[in-house]
Amino acid sequence: MSASFTTELSYCQLANEFSTSCSPSPVSAPQWLAFNQPLAAELGLPEAFWGTEAGLQLFAGNQLPDWAQPHALAYSGHQFGHFNPHLGDGRAILLTEIVTPEGQRFDLQLKGSGRTPYSRRGDGRSAIGPVIREYLVSEAMHHLGVPTTRALAAVATGDWVQREQAQPGAILARVARSHLRVGTAQYVLNLNSAAKLKSFADYLIERHYPEIILQHAPGFARYDALLSAVIERQAQLIAQWMSLGFIHGVMNTDNMSLVGDTIDYGPCAFMEAYNEHQVFSFIDKQGRYAYANQPAMAQWNLARFAETLLPIMTANDAPEPEAAIAATIERATELVMGFSDKYQQYYQAYFSAKIGLSADHPEASKLVQQLLAIMQQQHIDFTLAFRYLGDAEPNRRNHLFSDSASWLTWHQQWLHATASTPTHQLQRQLNEVNPALIPRNHLIEDCINEVVKTGSLAQFVRLQQAFAQPYQERAEYADLMPPATASQQVTTTFC
Ligand code: AMP
Ligand code: MG
Ligand code: MG
Repeated sequence: MSASFTTELSYCQLANEFSTSCSPSPVSAPQWLAFNQPLAAELGLPEAFWGTEAGLQLFAGNQLPDWAQPHALAYSGHQFGHFNPHLGDGRAILLTEIVTPEGQRFDLQLKGSGRTPYSRRGDGRSAIGPVIREYLVSEAMHHLGVPTTRALAAVATGDWVQREQAQPGAILARVARSHLRVGTAQYVLNLNSAAKLKSFADYLIERHYPEIILQHAPGFARYDALLSAVIERQAQLIAQWMSLGFIHGVMNTDNMSLVGDTIDYGPCAFMEAYNEHQVFSFIDKQGRYAYANQPAMAQWNLARFAETLLPIMTANDAPEPEAAIAATIERATELVMGFSDKYQQYYQAYFSAKIGLSADHPEASKLVQQLLAIMQQQHIDFTLAFRYLGDAEPNRRNHLFSDSASWLTWHQQWLHATASTPTHQLQRQLNEVNPALIPRNHLIEDCINEVVKTGSLAQFVRLQQAFAQPYQERAEYADLMPPATASQQVTTTFC
């Protein structure tokens, strides 16, 4: 028997308005879709729930163990730029916070487990497609090395949910360092209580940025440090997304984590043919959250977060309050503007590594930009373009780029720039950062169709196994590497 987690509910206890106690609504005929045993072991989930009937009833929300203290969390959010003060967990329920045997704290949440006080007109349910997509993509992101929520289990409910068409329902059990969002801070600000805002910010520091406590005495300087730390993590996260061709799809402030994790996988997708204007989400008609807009949108969201901290970023005994407030706004603005430089540094580091150069190599930036321009012009698959750089022979990459003149020129310059690194070492470095396998849209769609139409989980299981080692090229998964053919293309994703 391995050690089990302990449970606690620290966030909901901070203030009554932060959440509402509410239970999952039972489902008719739960069936396992997936169970993440390695993650269950890491978390210390008691073995009584590992793929068992008790586990099925837990993740279906039908029968909760006594350690579960289900709550829906309140939050607000800017959705496509428009502020909505009343969002919150409308189709998700926090079961509890778990503290692993190693002492790490995680939220354990069910998504699709029925209506909550924040559901508004929604049914509180999820269709099976988005559950499978989130399961595959969030786990792939984890194995790609990107901070993310994780998928612990997925169960079919046996009930139908009404979307454009009726679809089978499902529930995802997911795990996050926390589900606190920019939208959560916006909600707390709207409560108009400096004491609650302080307790929220202090909680955030203690739970996610404890180094700030060591570096700054209690007081307003800690909130500058908090803003700066949140900005730093987002700068890194977005640069990582960009380096993998990941498009989140709905970067509303309620879908941006204050921890720096990728959260709320909706109509997300990995880009195939490189196109900086790429959008997949059916709701993103204006391209607000297009691939290349993601850093700017993150910065916009961080400005909204900065606004929430303003009331506590000023000493309340300042001799000239108005001047102090103006100074605070100036500091906050500077920190938010500083996102750009931080992001650029991470971007340079990730993309330089993708072509086997260090960020300070004099040719790195130019070579990256030139390569992306060729990829954009020739509609080259983002993932394969970088992966094939790690090949010993140039055949696959030359073929990918159709031996075009612009490519061959770039290739010569690149060989020259990387010449000082021994070939084997260069290949190893490149293959460690450029994945062979990503959850391509058509693979996910085919998998969803197979589960829905035949009930077979074979492809779902296979994709989970393949994406668990995305940096390894294995013959058995060779069919998962190429981009969609014309007839397989998925141009729009739904949530
Ligand atoms: P999202 O765009 O999925 O992040 O959701 C935005 C807001 O709508 C959140 O407050 C969700 O909880 C809520 N929501 C989305 N879908 C549903 C649903 N089917 N039932 C209830 N609430 C929902
Ligand atoms: Mg409450
Ligand atoms: Mg959301």
